[in-house]
Amino acid sequence: MPITAPFKLASREFRDEPTVIAVNGTKIGGKQLPVIAGPCAVESTEQIVTIARLVQKAGASFIRGGAFKPRTGPYSFQGYGEEALKMLKAAKDETGLGIVTEVMTPHEVELVGEYTDMFQLGTRNMTNFYLLREVGRAGKPVILKRGMSATIEEWLLAAEYILAEGNPDVILCERGIRTFETHTRNTLDLNAVPVIHELSHLPIVVDPSHGTGIRSLVCDMTKASVAAGADGLLLEVHHDPDHSMTGDGAQSLFPDQFETLMRELQPIAIAVGREI
Ligand code: PEP
Ligand code: MN
Repeated sequence: MPITAPFKLASREFRDEPTVIAVNGTKIGGKQLPVIAGPCAVESTEQIVTIARLVQKAGASFIRGGAFKPRTGPYSFQGYGEEALKMLKAAKDETGLGIVTEVMTPHEVELVGEYTDMFQLGTRNMTNFYLLREVGRAGKPVILKRGMSATIEEWLLAAEYILAEGNPDVILCERGIRTFETHTRNTLDLNAVPVIHELSHLPIVVDPSHGTGIRSLVCDMTKASVAAGADGLLLEVHHDPDHSMTGDGAQSLFPDQFETLMRELQPIAIAVGREI
């Protein structure tokens, strides 16, 4: 049967059953609602281990944190690189949480892959086709963030690059798009959640932290994401966000807010047939 969608392997026509990805004891794309939480950037062993303990206690399954940071300006903190990967490993050893961290260039895929459980490809790299191909050959799950100006079709075509190299474990991440609205950092396109579920068998997680850019909006938009059918969540949490080394402290939840949010998500998750 010919597949009419331009994204072949990613399409529902190719595979109707939802893709379920098992990683570090957690399943993404099934009944579970995994939560990936942590700071924007890894800043020290103490910082990442402290945050990992806090988010694990509240029910997260993965610790996130950037080692290689794609900053808009060249003079901003660019991340501690391999040192930060070692700090993430310390947080995993301490808590058992899986690691999610960004990889920015094809030549760092091997190094990042030695530490991470899932690669994150950031919004600025969604159309870095050499990088897409390289993680397609890496044999670890990939969280593919939506390009800030990408259509849903362009996003699925980016996923197709990874799938076409033989890596079936792609998780899409809606993180907000650029619109004419300037009050929020981005416009979180929750339409994408049911649209992706109609068009594709791949799981989709939502990142309301970058989607809003404003701490006070994150909890409401997280709840809306779960109600819309998200397969998981990616949230920035920092124990001391006012001293965060990236500008993303303004969108990072305090640990007690994260804990309350995790509790308040329970009935919403149950209502949509999920376990959190
Ligand atoms: C991040 O997750 O910290 C990040 C840089 O995200 P994005 O690529 O969505 O801006
Ligand atoms: Mn960030």
